Amino acid sequence: MSNDQFHSIQETETASGAFAAATDPYPRWSRGQWSVSKTNFDLIRGLVVLRLCSVDFLVQNNQKILTYLRKLLGANLFKTVLKSSFCGQFVAGETREEVEPTVGKLARFDVKSILDYSVEADISQEEAEEKAVEGVIGEKTKAPEVIVESGIIDEHTVTEIHERYTVHKEFGDRRTDVVAARTFFYAGERDCDRNRDVFLQSIDAVAETTRSQGWAAIKLTALGRPQLLLKISEMMAQTQNFYKALTGSTYETLVLSRMSHDEFIQRIKDFGIKADSRQLRELIQTIDFDDDGFVDFHDWGTLLDEKKKLGEMFQVLNIKTGKLEPLIDDLTEREEGEFANMMHRMVDVAEHAVSKGVRIMIDAEQTYFQPAISRLALAMMRRYNKDRGNIFNTYQAYLKNALSTIEIDMHLARRENFHFGCKLVRGAYMDQERKRAEAVGYDDPINPSFEATSEMYDRCLRRIIEERSARGPGHVSVMVASHNEDAIRNAVNMMKDNNIAPSERVICFAQLYGMCDQVSFSLGQAGYSVYKYLPYGPVEDVLPYLSRRALENRNVGEGFP
Ligand SMILES: Cc1cc2nc3c(=O)[nH]c(=O)nc-3n(C[C@H](O)[C@H](O)[C@H](O)COP(=O)(O)OP(=O)(O)OC[C@H]3O[C@@H](n4cnc5c(N)ncnc54)[C@H](O)[C@@H]3O)c2cc1C
Repeated sequence: MSNDQFHSIQETETASGAFAAATDPYPRWSRGQWSVSKTNFDLIRGLVVLRLCSVDFLVQNNQKILTYLRKLLGANLFKTVLKSSFCGQFVAGETREEVEPTVGKLARFDVKSILDYSVEADISQEEAEEKAVEGVIGEKTKAPEVIVESGIIDEHTVTEIHERYTVHKEFGDRRTDVVAARTFFYAGERDCDRNRDVFLQSIDAVAETTRSQGWAAIKLTALGRPQLLLKISEMMAQTQNFYKALTGSTYETLVLSRMSHDEFIQRIKDFGIKADSRQLRELIQTIDFDDDGFVDFHDWGTLLDEKKKLGEMFQVLNIKTGKLEPLIDDLTEREEGEFANMMHRMVDVAEHAVSKGVRIMIDAEQTYFQPAISRLALAMMRRYNKDRGNIFNTYQAYLKNALSTIEIDMHLARRENFHFGCKLVRGAYMDQERKRAEAVGYDDPINPSFEATSEMYDRCLRRIIEERSARGPGHVSVMVASHNEDAIRNAVNMMKDNNIAPSERVICFAQLYGMCDQVSFSLGQAGYSVYKYLPYGPVEDVLPYLSRRALENRNVGEGFP
């Protein structure tokens, strides 16, 4: 955040009265108050680090420079230099013990913490690409034959969906063009167990350092083979598309409106499918697992059932025989085993968090993983959010379908009576998403402009606030995870317009450690619920994280003298 930007938020707030009016009668913040959260050393370090981030040569070559410095200074001195400069600015400490004072200091200024163990594998692009395709069965996977043969959907569409959710080696290095998010690469089941253990330790750290006030952040791609998430995503997309075509309805309409069993069966009969009543009853059981009259298509409630096989979960109707068939019949025992392991790990993490009174937020990742991640996150919310919002899912406003995804998930949360917890972000994978969509040949999933994304962000937030009015306090909450001052100001204004007191905690805010402090501390001092993402981990292992922070802050230091 540049000096100009810093002054601009202060001045705009005063001019528009947005923050000031909204805070009244809550405790007022003052510039002096938050600035005492920083020592002179902190402030000077911030200026120097952010200034260095604006030197293009340094940022572009940061990895080479760090490697050279490590050789030149030796491991110990290198660590000391980094800890008093870049690490000190962006990383909260190496260990849980080192993070504690930071958590305490933030808490004194009413800023809470989200702990994020930020160790990343520092592998080459070639290694990343190899890892992406390792374990893919056969040279080339096939689009589901049962759907192609049905003739209901043209082959081109089925193949297009298949390609979208297939590993493409040239996009195997998922770090390319991504600065705002961390990437996990699959290195075997043991490695995923270790990641699970790290998440468990983070939860312990949150419980101890924040007295269960904080959160732990997790990424599902760390807990299993990412290709499985692609596969589940494809199965979801193909099944939804199939039933959409079969019933002549949109997915949204089907899920959001109550389509009765009779109506559904009539539509299938109208399609000319010859199935006897026993087969149709069987079909109904497959699409309405909870037997509550709603058409669901897949048993999202039992997605977390570790005993259930992946191949059994997604079934479609063979329109020639009228029988149900598995959507994908070439899943190997190994894939089934890995899927069960992944579910076990997720459940372990969630159970541990709940037992410690710590809440967890599940990060959003690339769109080809998102249907699976979102569905699993929702299944976890359904299981663990009965009494309060223990699990939050992340929604990316840069996606064209952001609002409709939120709409559907809120509908399910209302229907099943669980707490809908949402972290709302702009999205971190824009350039990569656009390049992949163009190369693979599907529609660009990203909103056409920055303005369209901002508008989507506000619409999502407004819709969530409406939902809170409809369901009443305590059933819906949203975290505005952004450094964008307009987005934050809009959120504060929406709270004011809807008489949502900061103490109600229906909307909270989050920024990364070392970034946007003037906003975080101002919000905290004004009584809003605000969090800092606190990355931590051994210096040597957080270097990729630091590289990305340097890239993300390229323009921030430009305003400095
Ligand atoms: C606490 C926290 C948690 C986060 N968790 C996640 C997560 O789980 N998943 C995730 O994907 N990201 C996550 N992010 C990153 C986030 O998605 C953004 O990439 C990052 O915060 C920058 O956006 P901003 O809202 O802070 O706004 P700004 O700093 O104003 O950044 C705006 C960004 O929006 C981009 N943009 C978006 N849509 C468009 C468009 N259509 N056209 C042009 N530009 C566009 C711009 O390139 C620019 O980089 C998180 C961020 C924070 C602070």
